[in-house]
Amino acid sequence: MRLVDGKAIAAAINRETSAAAAALRERGTTPTLVVVVPTADESTAWYVRSIERAATKLGIQCRVEQITDATGPLIVETLARLSVDPAVHAIMCQTPLPAGVAPHEIAAAIEPRKDVDGGNPLSLGRLAIGLPTFAPATAAAVLEILRREQVPLVGANVVVVGRSIVVGKPAALLLVNEHATVTLCHSRTRDLAEICARADILVAAVGRPRMLGAEHVKPGAVIIDVGTNPTPDGGLVGDVDQAAVAERASLFTPVPGGVGPVTTALLLRSVVEAATALGTTG
Ligand code: NDP
Repeated sequence: MRLVDGKAIAAAINRETSAAAAALRERGTTPTLVVVVPTADESTAWYVRSIERAATKLGIQCRVEQITDATGPLIVETLARLSVDPAVHAIMCQTPLPAGVAPHEIAAAIEPRKDVDGGNPLSLGRLAIGLPTFAPATAAAVLEILRREQVPLVGANVVVVGRSIVVGKPAALLLVNEHATVTLCHSRTRDLAEICARADILVAAVGRPRMLGAEHVKPGAVIIDVGTNPTPDGGLVGDVDQAAVAERASLFTPVPGGVGPVTTALLLRSVVEAATALGTTG
């Protein structure tokens, strides 16, 4: 089994992003991302800091707007203000949201042209139709890795485990748009192991440490492990038992170092794409 080097893929994407950002700055536009943070959460804070660091390295300005005592209307108001601010090219709203706030109502407040994490129902609708749009970055990372590793997608049997709106469902849409035959599984799926074991490409996006083992993997299968599950010693482990599938899979994205770095790189590439498009359309 060969391991995908997510950091190397991210570095290749970042070189292109950095060059595109420099070209924009020369024309007087500094690509700018604003991350809205509506709740105090340690893992969110860590993730946001990592985006800020990566953005700065690429010549992208990243600003964090922390909302204290956030309510649904307050978050919507903030996103609506940023949506019409010409100095802001890209907007993200971090989860978790305060209790009782509907994610799709929040996402709908982000101007689609600035919706770099693809959560606006309009962006997701365009994705479903197969029109150009920003797709959720993690789902886009799944496709980017498969493309860069030259894994054939046309007619391939793909099984995606997990149907969340941020990962599983958009990943399934992206793959079906590439002419793969996609089966989307979830917690009510019967005979999960049997279905997974038919997959040429298995995408795990569940959030359960090492839930998928050798019995879920067809010999020679490609495995994309999106899961990031914290371990008691402060590490991260995926949804797939890497050791158990080592003899069966042909290609595997390790956790950490697989999908994660590519996700951040694609998010930042989208910021520069948004700034470029807004810069030319006004
Ligand atoms: P969610 O909790 O939103 O969704 C989990 C999905 O898994 C649901 O569709 C759920 O089914 C399904 N599921 C749960 N238990 C089972 C089971 N026993 N059998 C089959 N399906 C099951 O998680 P996310 O999609 O947000 O995240 C998934 C994983 O990806 C997490 O580990 C998360 O940390 C990671 N992640 C990684 C990112 C990265 O950049 N690498 C970014 C985003 C997420 P149902 O719908 O029926 O409840």
